[in-house]
Amino acid sequence: MSGKFVRAIFPGSFDPITNGHLDVISRGIKLFDEVIVAVGKSPLKNQLFSPEERVEMINELIAGLPGVSVEGFDGLMVEFAKHKNADVILRGLRSLTDVHYELELAMTNRSVAGIETVFIMTTEQYGFISSTLIRQVASLGGDISNMVPANVNKWLRERFAP
Ligand code: ADP
Repeated sequence: MSGKFVRAIFPGSFDPITNGHLDVISRGIKLFDEVIVAVGKSPLKNQLFSPEERVEMINELIAGLPGVSVEGFDGLMVEFAKHKNADVILRGLRSLTDVHYELELAMTNRSVAGIETVFIMTTEQYGFISSTLIRQVASLGGDISNMVPANVNKWLRERFAP
């Protein structure tokens, strides 16, 4: 990379954060000088954790990762990116289905705010992991311990404790 300091913002819902997200973060910080994980606060359909809880569980995970921080944001993501002086938006790709949506999103964000998006391809073993499925499986008592970090597994067990 050039000598320029590059700050990336990794926006998402992270309800909850998964091993797939964590993989994107830990690989992203090797490419960029700083990665800000940005947790959307806008109300979600089928929300399981509050934005504050999602930020808290991410904070527990990034404690040992220099250059990585987490914040919640309201409203338009590109406005938050500008406010943080982010150079790029970081997103992850799992499949062709992701590509369709992410392409539209990236083009919209570039058109609206002139900001570039950089994609990191999932590690094969995480390609099937999604927060939506984790919420569903965990709510039915399924074992998702190989899909989320240990602290998130604990949060999930507590949320669904009988
Ligand atoms: P959003 O609601 O904005 O899509 P998510 O929390 O679902 O937020 O995902 C945030 C980003 O992480 C998205 O770019 C998504 O494609 C990516 N992502 C999600 N799961 C994985 C995974 N298993 N591997 C790689 N990237 C992923």
